[in-house]
Amino acid sequence: MSLLVQKYGGTSVGTVERIQAVAERVYKTARDGHQVVVVVSAMSGETNRLLSLANEISARPIPREIDVLVSTGEQVTTALLCMALAELGQEARSYTGSQAGIKTDDSHNKARITNIDTEAVMKDLQSGCVVVLAGFQGVNEAGEVTTLGRGGSDTSAVAMAAALKADECQIYTDVDGVYTTDPRVVSDARKLDRITFEEMLEMASLGSKVLQIRAVEFAGKYNVALRVLSSFTEGEGTLITLDEEDAVEQALISGIAFNRDEAQITVRGVPDTPGIAFQILGAVADANIEVDMIVQNISGDNVTDFTFTVNRIDYDRVSEIVNTVAKELGAADVSGRSDIAKISVVGVGMRSHAGIASKMFQALAKEQINILMISTSEIKISVVVDEKYLELGVRTLHDEFDLAQNSQ
Ligand code: ADP
Ligand code: ASP
Ligand code: MG
Repeated sequence: MSLLVQKYGGTSVGTVERIQAVAERVYKTARDGHQVVVVVSAMSGETNRLLSLANEISARPIPREIDVLVSTGEQVTTALLCMALAELGQEARSYTGSQAGIKTDDSHNKARITNIDTEAVMKDLQSGCVVVLAGFQGVNEAGEVTTLGRGGSDTSAVAMAAALKADECQIYTDVDGVYTTDPRVVSDARKLDRITFEEMLEMASLGSKVLQIRAVEFAGKYNVALRVLSSFTEGEGTLITLDEEDAVEQALISGIAFNRDEAQITVRGVPDTPGIAFQILGAVADANIEVDMIVQNISGDNVTDFTFTVNRIDYDRVSEIVNTVAKELGAADVSGRSDIAKISVVGVGMRSHAGIASKMFQALAKEQINILMISTSEIKISVVVDEKYLELGVRTLHDEFDLAQNSQ
């Protein structure tokens, strides 16, 4: 008998029929003698619907109340799934994050899990009951509902699997595994049987939203066996593995990630003196805004240009902040654009092979795609391009690195 955590995403529980299909799958797993914790998302579109209601009332809704609002989506699914399981004769009990002992810090809308008290859940599991947990939510010290950021049900599932020392954490979704790139953009993308945590972490952080980045971090840290599978078809899915030897058939590049939610700000003609980067980026960090790529260039006598990227939703706020700081610093001008996107090639094989960057740049040049910014790490190369070239860029690189189904 093993203990399994199965997470079902929004599309997988998007209708009553799909909830019933999930119930069948869970029922069969339990009938095979396994202990099952099911983690569910809100029905597809529900979190967005709730957020748009909030935005109709307020341009900046109170973060605490946003959490109270959006956490209801997951609760609906837990109750419906338990009812569907009961119809099949399977005892099941729904849990909110709070009831399941998922404690988080205070940062509403992007809380981090700090501790899980598994006593109640364990007791139910031992009595043969299936536990159905509302993903995406927890509770802070003060007893207030918190949520874990978009896509956060993945993290609920992995954290629960770690706390319960589950045998496997299975992420059931609307694709049958992790692909070389988003199969919705490149139709001949190839499913990977295995991928390393390190690569999955890069892919997730560079925009492949098949897994929330914190879920991958958590799984790596606590060594949770993590698998991505389809809730609609049978199959082995993709195993996320610690072992490099085990991974992606030793390919040079494992995948291509991309992110449209990018914006770029440039401050020109800033005095080239110590502390300038701190003054510009410190003000942005103080506003709790994450900065991604940063490029600084000496552009003339004692002056420097400074360009960085942020998430597109923060663009207006960052522009405001940077304009204020730039005036104080006597900078020549501030400009920016929010129609950019980032494309990244990822692979542990890069460590031992030179020439990947030049191959990437040459392929993009052949298609007349201009590169606006570049950043690299040991196992990835990212470029920022005009958003209108995103799909072309991804397909070009997917071909260039022979990632398609029929090229292996
Ligand atoms: P869920 O609602 O089940 O959490 P998500 O929409 O969050 O599902 O994640 C699944 C989606 O991730 C897929 O439908 C696919 O479009 C997208 N995706 C992006 N990159 C990849 C990739 N490399 N492999 C597989 N799916 C990907
Ligand atoms: N329902 C939440 C969202 O849409 C959490 C999740 O689905 O993982 O972001
Ligand atoms: Mg998701």
